Amino acid sequence: MAIPIIQLENLNLYYDKGKPSEVWALKNINIEINKGEYVAFFGPSGCGKTTLLYTISGIDISKVTDGKILINGRDLRQFSQKELAIFRQMGIGIIFQQFNLIPSLSVLDNVALPMAFLGVSLDRRKEEAANLLARLNLTPYAGRYPSELSGGQQQRVGIARALANNPPIIVADEPLGNLDSENANKVLEFLKELNEKDGRTVIMVTHEAWSLRDAKRIFYIKDGEIVKIEEPKGKTETAKSITSHVMEELYPDITSKELIAKSLSHLFLRGYSNDEIKRFEFFLVQRFNDKLDKDTFRAVLDRPYKHGGLGLWKQKAAKIAEMTEELIERRKDIDRIHKELELNLEVPLYEEIRKLSGWLLEEFSGKITDIQKIKLEEIVSERLRKIISSEDFLKVLRLPKNEFGLGLSLRVSQRMSDKLDSILGDSEPALMQ
Ligand code: ADP
Ligand code: MG
Repeated sequence: MAIPIIQLENLNLYYDKGKPSEVWALKNINIEINKGEYVAFFGPSGCGKTTLLYTISGIDISKVTDGKILINGRDLRQFSQKELAIFRQMGIGIIFQQFNLIPSLSVLDNVALPMAFLGVSLDRRKEEAANLLARLNLTPYAGRYPSELSGGQQQRVGIARALANNPPIIVADEPLGNLDSENANKVLEFLKELNEKDGRTVIMVTHEAWSLRDAKRIFYIKDGEIVKIEEPKGKTETAKSITSHVMEELYPDITSKELIAKSLSHLFLRGYSNDEIKRFEFFLVQRFNDKLDKDTFRAVLDRPYKHGGLGLWKQKAAKIAEMTEELIERRKDIDRIHKELELNLEVPLYEEIRKLSGWLLEEFSGKITDIQKIKLEEIVSERLRKIISSEDFLKVLRLPKNEFGLGLSLRVSQRMSDKLDSILGDSEPALMQ
């Protein structure tokens, strides 16, 4: 029988209550999580995932205005300071996205630290910490400092530390955000093991749909509300397709940004490895959401790969950064165009279309005739109004001039069509492997 370990009842939380900057970060949350369950909180950046996770962890709960946070039936809001401290030390293990390791302590001491406040002797602490490090294949690094480890290794130290006092509940806040796919997979495998072998309750927070693969229940969050609860059944494949369908329905804007990032990263980094492309995609989404400013975005492109950047040549980085900024501008045009078209599908939009066509023509170094130009503007307009598809657009570009096409080469046509697709964000990139 399912026994609830966490119950949230009518939970509401505000930041900056009463000030102009007030944010209603959690709205009427009602959920139950059972002992031994593996669940995920999913939703776009800023929707309230971290806030919800912290609330369950007993952090910052003074901001909760009403509702209950029941752990094994007892309300955290009624706990004394001391009880709360004990719960945080032994009741729950938190894995942070930013690892949060203490730079001046060795790996071993970082892992042993949470035990220090529980009266465990120093020898016992070191022994336990060494066992945890062994479990995460980190024994050779015990004496090193966090800065001497790779991101994946630091994250594993973070996991070992979260396990330090053997807590029955493990929460992980975007634990894969800064990892390449190999390390991300290792972390997912380990969370699954903690759940299946150790029987711990696991709550994972993520904004990446693929990392939901092991969750038995997914809570979808939007603007501080749980908007959907899904129990993926059957094979992972089925679960995946349900999720992408749900995504489009719940987060149409995000889906199009992610599609754009996906097609762009394939377009710009043709021939690069999957990990590089994925990392670039991540940076792009951050840039689209203004989580990275222009200069930082440019800087991460040529920062060495092992330092969390993309390791591109300076010139290539500069070029890609420039193209991305241009695209963000074009994208704003597109949003404006879509808004106007929503009001009136007949509105001509000459200037916008001329601008977009000119931008597409940068892919073509030959001489373009007036007739070709007019034809291009015509099909760009039709593409924007969704009268023609991406394939039809490509076909007309390639079609010989005497058949009313533009008569461009396959290569140029493909590039122009990809470029337009990439800002419209309405079709999967053709080049995905
Ligand atoms: P997520 O983890 O899903 O990205 P968060 O829980 O961090 O979302 O944030 C939810 C909302 O609360 C956002 O609008 C965010 O700006 C706001 N917020 C988060 N932390 C604070 C804080 N300490 N002070 C004020 N607002 C905050
Ligand atoms: Mg967060």
